[in-house]
Amino acid sequence: MAVKPRRQAVVVDVGGVKVGGNHPIVVQSMTNTDTADVPATVNQVMALARAGSELVRVTVNTEQAAAAVPKIAETLDHFGVRVPLIGDFHYNGHILLRKYPACARALAKYRINPGNSDIGNKTGGNFRTMIEVALENDKPVRIGVNWGSLDAALLTRMMDENAQLPEPKEAREVTLDAMVASAVESAHAAERHGLGSDRIILSAKVSGVQDLIDVYRALASACDYALHLGLTEAGLGSKGIVASTAALAPLLQEGIGDTIRTSLTPAPNGDRTEEVLVSQQILQSLGIRSFTPQVTACPGCGRTTSTFFQEMADQIQTYLREQMPRWKSGHPGVETMKVAVMGCVVNGPGESKHSNIGISLPGTFEEPKAPVYVDGRLLTTLKGDRIVPEFIAILNDYVSSHYAT
Ligand code: SF4
Repeated sequence: MAVKPRRQAVVVDVGGVKVGGNHPIVVQSMTNTDTADVPATVNQVMALARAGSELVRVTVNTEQAAAAVPKIAETLDHFGVRVPLIGDFHYNGHILLRKYPACARALAKYRINPGNSDIGNKTGGNFRTMIEVALENDKPVRIGVNWGSLDAALLTRMMDENAQLPEPKEAREVTLDAMVASAVESAHAAERHGLGSDRIILSAKVSGVQDLIDVYRALASACDYALHLGLTEAGLGSKGIVASTAALAPLLQEGIGDTIRTSLTPAPNGDRTEEVLVSQQILQSLGIRSFTPQVTACPGCGRTTSTFFQEMADQIQTYLREQMPRWKSGHPGVETMKVAVMGCVVNGPGESKHSNIGISLPGTFEEPKAPVYVDGRLLTTLKGDRIVPEFIAILNDYVSSHYAT
């Protein structure tokens, strides 16, 4: 089954990165440093950008954070890191954006949570102020609804209306309807204040996989704004990765989603860039975008009594990832390359032949030799304890000859 054609969303320019239409689905991430801590935030933004995050969001929750944003942007610029910064605003965004105009200018986009602004009130003045600042600075906004902070007045109204129906819907369904309504009605309000649809991205994040799929299907059919996709509070480690993949994959397969974030909870002192790699891997596994050459490795079994081939698969994957920043500019297309590292002759040669380059290592009781296949043909057979560097040399030759500038 092929990925369905992308839903054609209005294209939004976020600091030079195009989101929507047929533009590549954008990978983004968010820092977890105190934004007021300029060096720590700069370091993390640089790490996220180096890992491939094309947009990076920072929280702007205090006056100190707002004051730090222009310094962060300047420092990144000084180091030649051009990744657009997005400001995440809740409760006091209208105050901070007005009081710190340099912050408003330095950010490439403002994230506004309608549930944490006053859009449900009679005046809606705070929401309007943020839209006005966006207009003055020619910036787009993301109207980001989250069910943990859903507009309470809107939800109550919709629950009351539902209760009057002859056949009321379940509370879950009404809540999801309220999320879509909150996002779309807020976007319409922003348009009434003068912001074009090409300055608006929507999101409606929940933490349940089936809920996310339902809410985004509804959102996608209710409007043509560009959509930011992500499972909120996905969780720790493998749970977070699996849940995010399970939620995002069906939507991406249906052509829904213009930018994605994987919201993983890192282990204490864990690597924040993992969320970028997971987002990239989701897109690459679906065949939607390629970021880095892929290593196919068998899981190993009783035929591989040593860990040599797992170590080799890991070394090769790490090597490929480390080369990518250099290869990306010098060897276009290399990100689509497929490499197989297999544990024995059962599936090794077959899988190797399906890859650009493949090696089949000797399993237990097999002759100690490793045939290498290039473009489906046996190139050579490696032996001894220099198999890894010799295989890497073959890889380098292949990249130079097949992905030349
Ligand atoms: S390729 Fe060989 S070592 Fe790998 S899982 Fe299959 S049988 Fe086991």
